[in-house]
Amino acid sequence: MSKKLTIALAGNPNSGKTTIFNNLTGARQHVGNYPGVTVEKKEGILKYKDYEINVVDLPGTYSLTAYSLDEIVARNFVIEEKPDVIIDIIDTFNLERNLYLATQFMELGVRLILAFNMHDLAEKHGLNIDRDKLSELLGTPIIFTVATKKKGMIELLDEIIKLAERKTKLEKTAIDYGEEIQEELTKLEDILSKDNNLIQKYPSRWLAVKVLENDSEVIKRITESSYSDDILGQVEKSSHHLENVFGDTPEAIIADRRYGFISGACSESVKKTYEMRHTISDKIDKVLINRILGLPIFLGLMWLVFQFTFKLSEPLMGWVEITQEWLGNLFGSMLPEGSAIQSLVIDGIIGGVGAVLIFVPIIFLLFLAMAVLEDSGYMARAAFIMDKLMHKIGLHGRSFIPILLGFGCNLPAIMATRTIEDRKDRFVTILVNPFISCGARLPVYALFIGAFFSQKVAGNVLFSLYLLGIMIAIIMAKIFRRFLFKGPAAPFVMELPPYRIPTIRGLFIHMWERGRVYLKKAGTIIFAGCVLVWFLSNFPWSPTYSKDYDTLLKQAQGNEERIVQLENKKAFEKMEKSFAGSLGRTIAPVFKPLGLDNWKLSVGLFGGFIAKEIVVGTLGTLHSVGEADEESQSLRRALQKEKRPDGSKMYSPLVAYALMVFVLLYIPCVATIAVIKRETNSWRWPIFTAFYTTAVAWIVAFIVYQGGKLLGLGI
Ligand code: GDP
Ligand code: MG
Repeated sequence: MSKKLTIALAGNPNSGKTTIFNNLTGARQHVGNYPGVTVEKKEGILKYKDYEINVVDLPGTYSLTAYSLDEIVARNFVIEEKPDVIIDIIDTFNLERNLYLATQFMELGVRLILAFNMHDLAEKHGLNIDRDKLSELLGTPIIFTVATKKKGMIELLDEIIKLAERKTKLEKTAIDYGEEIQEELTKLEDILSKDNNLIQKYPSRWLAVKVLENDSEVIKRITESSYSDDILGQVEKSSHHLENVFGDTPEAIIADRRYGFISGACSESVKKTYEMRHTISDKIDKVLINRILGLPIFLGLMWLVFQFTFKLSEPLMGWVEITQEWLGNLFGSMLPEGSAIQSLVIDGIIGGVGAVLIFVPIIFLLFLAMAVLEDSGYMARAAFIMDKLMHKIGLHGRSFIPILLGFGCNLPAIMATRTIEDRKDRFVTILVNPFISCGARLPVYALFIGAFFSQKVAGNVLFSLYLLGIMIAIIMAKIFRRFLFKGPAAPFVMELPPYRIPTIRGLFIHMWERGRVYLKKAGTIIFAGCVLVWFLSNFPWSPTYSKDYDTLLKQAQGNEERIVQLENKKAFEKMEKSFAGSLGRTIAPVFKPLGLDNWKLSVGLFGGFIAKEIVVGTLGTLHSVGEADEESQSLRRALQKEKRPDGSKMYSPLVAYALMVFVLLYIPCVATIAVIKRETNSWRWPIFTAFYTTAVAWIVAFIVYQGGKLLGLGI
């Protein structure tokens, strides 16, 4: 029987945690150097000597406050799961900054090992560390490692086992906070120890420090204690006292003291043989985050990213379609012609899977491009460059990347908001993200621009839609920041990691990790949605038709043209009489003020809730042109001919534009809603998003249509 151990890998983002995790467990997790890549903890098993070690890779964090999700995840794991040993991976190159997190583990009283990773870089740059001395000063074992070369792994494992076998806890290296603070901490500890439940779970000293730091999670926990009045009363008193003495918040002083402790220990034991500051990265940064050149370079790179993504994904998307068609034919011939099961398989299932797969090329390529930017270290600079601008909107530099990703697909974009530490910034970024025009809306634009605008202006019309989305997002962000999520914007405290040349393997793992989430999350929901839409638009299965199509079809045998015509008419009538059709009729009047009161359109828009591109296919069926995509000329012609009840033309360029505006802004697709639910952890925000975006869409489309009419742009 092997003995079981659980160890957790913690550390700042980019310290090499994932690399060490992969070394230890043989897994292939993504290695990247943009904060927030590892958002959920990952686990792997490793056998060493007679131990079976469960290794958990925690999200990278700079600290263990309650300010960000990552930090709470990491902290709760340590407190609740009580791993046998914690390994704090330190980027030796940025030693003091990285040790800050270590001080917090020390305070938690856990069995801690410091892995001084990137020791190669540190050595190369002339950093000389007296390991024994520093280890003694910090009161924790230190192992030098070079994760990329698998150096130091055995030493690390041996130390883990040594520490785990030593049953006693580490002798506490309490950080010296100075007499004044220490006194208050003792008072707090005394009161806190009255509550046995609390003390059993958390070290009292840690609790005391945390309440002084005004840690929201801990305070919340305390309010549930039966001694909460006593404790909070003392916290109030102590904080007040300390603020009087130091003229600053306890939180700030405590942080100062921790840094003081670190720099004290380091100055005793670390020598820099020559100035480390002027590294290559600094030199590159002189250009890339240059005040004048920074922004143009950044925009240029973004342009390249989008060129790369969209140009390369085009042929790939073609292949997906061809495969889908081939599968449809294959299964179609195997199943009884005209049966519900054939329709379910071809239109519902294969169509549904296709709707998911069609975005795979775009999403994966976009993520690949993003991975290059992240792994090279540029992404952190992008956030830095955009920070000033984003602050004007009331957001943080880090909000920029999720917004950018939104142009590909809002799902990964919303997931990427996890890197935003400030909750207010994070929520606002999530709420406005659906206005960023994702790839799925493009087919709808392509169809209508192609039908109602000349080739010459097509590009501008498209660009104006993207721009409108951005503008609305900015306006809404300002409004939310003003009324819903008040408070000052978080300062920019992101570390600029050194530049590195990304490895091919890392890039692909990164792309796969992110893309997989799309496949999994979106796959299931979009798929289910497609089957639902299929059901609504195909049932009742055999409505009473106005004509006896079956007989007519038999009579028309040999006349291909007539057969197609009849089949399309039949399909149209079937959908007209379906549940979706009745729904469309019911909601159409709502769109009258927008000039969009057309039941076929309503059915299409309804389908768009499942995935925006479904609008196109649905319109195809409803205009009796059979199978259709955005390039379909017959659908474009049918749209151009579509009439209103009074006989006038349904669409004009103005109506088409109002429609595109509406499609741009209205309710995000069901998958996005699902992700918002997941990321905000409540139904409140996804429901709110569904309603407010639709309201905004209605209002803006109203303004466009009515305004356009007033300006005499025709109906
Ligand atoms: P994480 O964010 O903490 O999970 O860090 P990663 O494992 O993703 O590593 C960040 C980057 O540092 C990657 O590009 C690694 O290849 C690189 N890296 C990790 N460990 C070392 C090391 O010991 N030396 C050097 N030179 N690079 C390393
Ligand atoms: Mg990682």
